[in-house]
Parts: sequence; structure tokens; C-alpha cells
Amino acid sequence: MGSALPIALPALKTNPKFIFFTDFDGTITVQDSNDYMTDNLGFGTALRKEGNADVLYGRRDFRDSFRDMLDSVKTPFNECIDILRQNITLDPGFKAFFEWASENNVPIVVLSGGMTPVIRALLAHLLGEEAVDTLQIVSNDVAPRDGKSINEEGGWQIVFHDDSGFGHDKSLEIRPYARLPAEERPVLFYAGDGVSDLSAAKETDLLFAKSGRDLVTYCEKEEVVFTTFNDFSDIHNTVKEIVAGKLTVKEAATGRK
Ligand SMILES: [Mg+2]
Repeated sequence: MGSALPIALPALKTNPKFIFFTDFDGTITVQDSNDYMTDNLGFGTALRKEGNADVLYGRRDFRDSFRDMLDSVKTPFNECIDILRQNITLDPGFKAFFEWASENNVPIVVLSGGMTPVIRALLAHLLGEEAVDTLQIVSNDVAPRDGKSINEEGGWQIVFHDDSGFGHDKSLEIRPYARLPAEERPVLFYAGDGVSDLSAAKETDLLFAKSGRDLVTYCEKEEVVFTTFNDFSDIHNTVKEIVAGKLTVKEAATGRK
């Protein structure tokens, strides 16, 4: 094995046999923080849902639709974070899964279409400051607009992770692990709920799609193999059985239940 590997592939640092990639908004949290800001501080639910449908059915790139959503939010960034801290809650099963994963050498990598400072602030609030530092977070960022400060009215904008139509192409982070030679390659999981997960949906060995959400529709449309979850306790049970060798990823991929 080349010594450069752990740098390029940070989740291999502890030689795990399993890696858990996950979306953040609406997956680790109950509510989607970007949807929440758009619906309550920006152009509202109806336009946001229209935008999501355009992306789901391939009429528009996620990147453009998502930028429009966030551009409609003029509230200073620090106020947005305060409002989100008061309104966004953690999936009821995530904390137990997070603790189990740390104890069992299953690294969790957060791949998000949201913005790093929001994710860090929410995780620090919901899970604790120390916990945040143990998770690798790969996401979009935020920057000031037109010589303003991000904490002024209309002062911030999203900065995308890459040049793809997804804004953040989540497959870029997963694929180097997926391409490892069989004897070095961990089993890869992914959990998500919506249109920001389309770029990741086909990359892992087992995809958990949140019940009743857009990602389920997409997987059925594209014939991507998946299983559904209601909250992280479902994921926890399935991953624990797979890690214990009682269930295979193939057996677990039962589609819509
Ligand atoms: Mg999501």
C-alpha cells in the first residue's frame, strides 16, 4: 500500500472494514436547514418544491435551483444560524448510531449540499463540540457578497464545492474508495433523503433512502438498488447486522418497504 493513500482517503486512517457516508440535512437532522431558511426567510415552500421537482425530473441542475433558493434568503448569516439552532432537531436515532459507529471503527463521512458553517454549528449544538471534530465534513461553503459582511442583510452567498451541476458532486468523495482493490476496499454505505443525494445514489454498496422522500422516487425511476429508513434506528439495526456478518448488503437492499 502506498503511504499517500491515507491522505487522499482520510476515512481509511483507522483501516475500517466499513465506511458510512451520509447526507446531513433531512437525514442526520429531521428538518432540512436549507429548506427551512427558504420556506421561512426566503421565497417560500411553493417555489422551493417547484425547484425540487425540476431537479428530480432532470429539467434543471441542482446547482442553479439551490442557488436561487438561498439567494432568496436575505437574513444575516449569524441570524440564520441562531434561527436554525432553535428549529432544527437531530434524527432521534442518530446519536446512538454515532456512538456505536465510533466504538466499532465505522467512520462517518458527512457529504452535504449545505454549507459547512451551518453544519458545524448545528452538530456542535445537537451532538456536542467534541463530536463534530471526529466527523469528516465535505460540503459547500459560504462567502460575503459585494463587499459586505456575511452578517449583514443580503451579505452572504453559497460557494459551491466543485464545478458540477450538483454544486457538490458527492460521488467525487466516494469513488476513490469504491475503486480500491477488493482486498483493501471497505464496504460502503450511504444515507440520504433528497435531490442533493442524486450524485451519490449509485456509488455505494448499500443506499439507505429516507421513506417517503424524493430520493426513493429517484431510485425507483433510475433502478438504483436501495432500502428505506424512517430514522437512524433502522439504519443502526441493519448496519449492525451487516457488520456482525448476519446480513449481506444484497439481502438488505429490499427497496420500498
Ligand atoms: Mg438531504
